[in-house]
Formats: sequence, C-alpha cells, structure tokens
Amino acid sequence: MLLTETCKFKLEPTREQKALLKELFEAYKCMVKECLDKAVEANITSRKRLHEIAYRELRAKFPHYPSHYIYTAITQALAMFKSYRRLVRKRANVSLPRVKDLNAVLLDDTHLFWFCWGSLKLASHSGNITIPFKAEHSSKFIDWQVKSSRLVKRGDVFFLHVTFRKTVEEREAEGVLGVDINEKSIDLVTVKPDKVRFIKIDISEAKYIRDRYFKKRRNIQTKTSGWTKARLLAKYSGRERRRINNVLHKASKIIARIAAEENVKPVMENLSYIRERIRYGKKMNRRLHSLPFRKIQSYILYKAMEKGFKPEIVDAKNTSRLCPICGELSKPNGHIFKCRKCNFQADRHLVAAWNIAAKLPMCRPLPLAAKALNEAIAKGERIVIKSQLSDNSQIN
Ligand SMILES: [Zn+2]
Repeated sequence: MLLTETCKFKLEPTREQKALLKELFEAYKCMVKECLDKAVEANITSRKRLHEIAYRELRAKFPHYPSHYIYTAITQALAMFKSYRRLVRKRANVSLPRVKDLNAVLLDDTHLFWFCWGSLKLASHSGNITIPFKAEHSSKFIDWQVKSSRLVKRGDVFFLHVTFRKTVEEREAEGVLGVDINEKSIDLVTVKPDKVRFIKIDISEAKYIRDRYFKKRRNIQTKTSGWTKARLLAKYSGRERRRINNVLHKASKIIARIAAEENVKPVMENLSYIRERIRYGKKMNRRLHSLPFRKIQSYILYKAMEKGFKPEIVDAKNTSRLCPICGELSKPNGHIFKCRKCNFQADRHLVAAWNIAAKLPMCRPLPLAAKALNEAIAKGERIVIKSQLSDNSQIN
C-alpha cells in the first residue's frame, strides 16, 4: 500500500537568499506565462509539443537558471491550461488563469532540490543555495521517500511543501473490525475466532459543535450584512471545521490503534447507502447531510493503512435492519434494535457494526448465540472524544 502525505516547512532564508528567492519566483512566473500563452495560442495539451515550441526560446531568455525550471514551468502551464479547458466545457464565462497570482514553484525531485532534515539545498540562478528550516513535528517522515515538492510564497514568507511517500506492507489480520459511522457515535466490533469486543466511540461533541455553529451562522446571516457578514461567516466556518476535524482525527486514531492492537481488518460501509437508510424528515436531513461521513472514512482509511491494515468497503444494505441471530429483517425503532421474530434486542448501532463485519465474505464472524452476543454487548466499552480546542472563550 502506498501512503502519500504532504508536509509544510517554513523556510528561514538569509536576506540575500530571500532576494534570490524573489527573483526566482518572478523568473518562474515569466516562464509559466510564456508557456501558457503558447499553449493557449496553439491549443496544445501535449507536453512534448509544448516543449518543442517553448524550450529553446526560454533557455535563451533565462540562461542562468537551471533548465529544469523550464521543464516544471511547462508542467505547471499545462496543468493550468487543462483545468481551464475542463471548466470551459462545464460553463461559459471562464477567464484564463492568471499567472500573476501564481505563488508556487514546482520542484522536481532529482534536479532542483536536495532535501535534508533542517536544510534545503536548492538549485538557483546563483548556484546551489542552502536554506535552513525547522524540521520539528516531522520525525515520522524520516524513513519516507521525498517526492516532488513545491516552493510556496505567502506575502514575504517562503515555505517548502514536500510530498513524502512510503510503501507499507499489508499485515495479515486475525479477524475483522466492523465500523458503523453515525451522527453521535462510531460503533465498532472486533471479531476474532475466540473473542468479540464491542466499542462505542462517542463523537457527540462533533454534533454539539455543528449545532452551535449552525445557530451562530444563522444569527450572523440575519443580523449582519455585506463585508462584516462575509468576514464573520468565513471566520466561524473555519473555526467550526478545525474543531470538528480535531474530534474526527482523534476518533479515527483510536480506531486505527484498536485495529493494530487487535490485529483486525477494518470493514466500512459503502457511503452511497448511508443516505438511503436515513429518513428522519427535513430537520434531521439537514444535519445528516452536513455530517462529514466521507471525511471520517478517509481519516480512518489513512490511519489504518499507516498501521498496515487496508480497510474493506462493503455494500451495507440492511445492516441496520438485519437480526444477527436469526436473520429476520426488522424495522429499527429508535436506538434499540428489536427482532420481531426471535426477540433479540440490542443497541442498534452495535448491531449494525456487527452486520457490517459479517458482510466480509472471506472472514465471516462466527455465528454467536443470542446469550453470548448479549454478554459481549453488555461488556462493551465506551470512549468519549472531547475537542481539545476550547470552545466557550471564543464562540460569543
Ligand atoms: Zn431475530
């Protein structure tokens, strides 16, 4: 399994290096602009053709710059032109991308930079320069491969965005981990031949944050206008997103840890079924549609893969309606599942997690008697996630 992650480092150039970087950005913009103009004029999307038309001229114009900047400028220009063409196909009135706003320089990983922990050696029009940066919080990437990267300019500050890559060996699992994602909880069951363990991860904090910010946004919408309204909405939506992400990151980290500890393969449901199985009426729908199911899944997916377990996605039809004991379909009623045939009764979300785990054909959980299942559910653990970022001080 291939893991890819981008890490951002703030560069600490000397005064002279800063001046050089500024010159580099200006020259690079010129290169991209000329390539883009030529691509547009002749309607070129082929790298080879654009290279034939643009390279020689640019080489003559920028003789002191390493030639690979022209190569990546061609890549950049083509990417801009292609995304412009895609937009044009979708709607009218699309203006050409403005190179003036470009704030990044693409670096290829073999000719333009050499990455060391704490310093960047960069090829420039004035020879190779070594720019220091702080490499803290990035120790996990020590044994990763450095792939292509970007220099990014924000105002007067320069950053290096490095793409790291690592191959992770998939581990052989002893069982499965059923994951059922809900509005207030993520419900888990680990199923191994000799052991069943139910865990409810309480993420109601995310719902609480969402409800509070929903009210907040509604107030802003009715009580303010114009620039103030736009500024406040942007501020609060950013804050809301950070808080919710914080909760979701913590929850998915715990799930990946459980997968690793228990040595089980996560199983999640295909998300296209989620909306189908939820019909609560308008008010509920508004909330559910804003629940970032996809985000939760992608966090779990990534963090589990880091630990060597690639989650399986299954078609989750009927997972909240199926009786795990007798197989009868019953309508869920509130948060309790009750079978109309055999009277088995349990937390609806834990039942769904069990049914999701049972969907994996290669690793079906052993059928358990109602008594054993009830005992496992009764012993179920509960983990409550709290947002680290304080709430009260800033919300009003
Ligand atoms: Zn039943």
